Amino acid sequence: MKNYNRITKGWFSEICHLWPGAANSFEIESVLYNKKSKFQQIEVYQTRHHGRMLVLDGIVQLTEFDEFAYHEMLTHIPMFAHPNPESVLVIGGGDGGVLREIGRHDGVKAIDFCEIDESVMTVSKAFFPKLACGFDDPRVNIFIRDGIEFIQEKSKEYDLIIVDSSDPIGPAADLFEKPFYRSLKAALRPGGIMATQGESLFLHKKTVIKLAQMTKALFPLQAYAHVLVPTYPGGHIGLCLGSLGPDLRRPSRSIHLDLQTQLKYYNPEIHEAAFILPRFAKQMLETGDENA
Ligand code: SAM
Repeated sequence: MKNYNRITKGWFSEICHLWPGAANSFEIESVLYNKKSKFQQIEVYQTRHHGRMLVLDGIVQLTEFDEFAYHEMLTHIPMFAHPNPESVLVIGGGDGGVLREIGRHDGVKAIDFCEIDESVMTVSKAFFPKLACGFDDPRVNIFIRDGIEFIQEKSKEYDLIIVDSSDPIGPAADLFEKPFYRSLKAALRPGGIMATQGESLFLHKKTVIKLAQMTKALFPLQAYAHVLVPTYPGGHIGLCLGSLGPDLRRPSRSIHLDLQTQLKYYNPEIHEAAFILPRFAKQMLETGDENA
């Protein structure tokens, strides 16, 4: 289905059937980039109050204002839940934000990065250098491929897999389906952890329930965390995590002061707090009833 975004009187409104009846709007100063890649329409705006903004197929992926919240939590929750992640895979995340965060961990030896659309990387390098710095890490091996195909070839290879995907439409649709989740599990080493972009507890109840149920059925441990990100519709986003061993809900090791001072959102307290859900969300995830 098409997203009908509007630019009216200097405001970009993100109108999408995935969150009917409301739209996030950003005041923009200029259009920095607007081209169709092989997979999607890529736009970059200079906003008045949120720094630069990346939009794919009409859906806002990030703003410089609060990207740190999402990237830190999607990365450091699974990184710190795992006692010793050495081999890590990132699927999606063409802006480089998750890679930047993984790069802060000295113990990581190899990072495979699989993004379907090379143009997102190119645009990020040109317009979002503070995110794209993640690509400079010598431990990163880049694969320009569909993550669904890539992961099918992997067996017990990774301690950690992070799926930083766009919403479940276009090239990302199958990243929200059970065959992909089965492949994620198969690609993990014993004791491995996976974390995926888990949509909004308020706006995407069907998807959230589906992700939680698939993960519960496949992994010995499953948990759902949430992060405040004003740029995203509803002002927050969920993270769906599955573990073959380690407890997800608390860090398994302490954070070095050097690393803590680099971070703006993640800390050991918020790691635990992120899993504490409002009553409606707990019930929804427990019962599978979106009206709970
Ligand atoms: N968290 C962001 C959000 O949803 O707002 C997502 C950011 S990141 C830019 C999403 C990336 O996933 C995009 O660069 C897109 O090209 C990539 N992607 C989508 N489908 C993919 C697939 N099947 N395999 C690999 N990468 C994919």
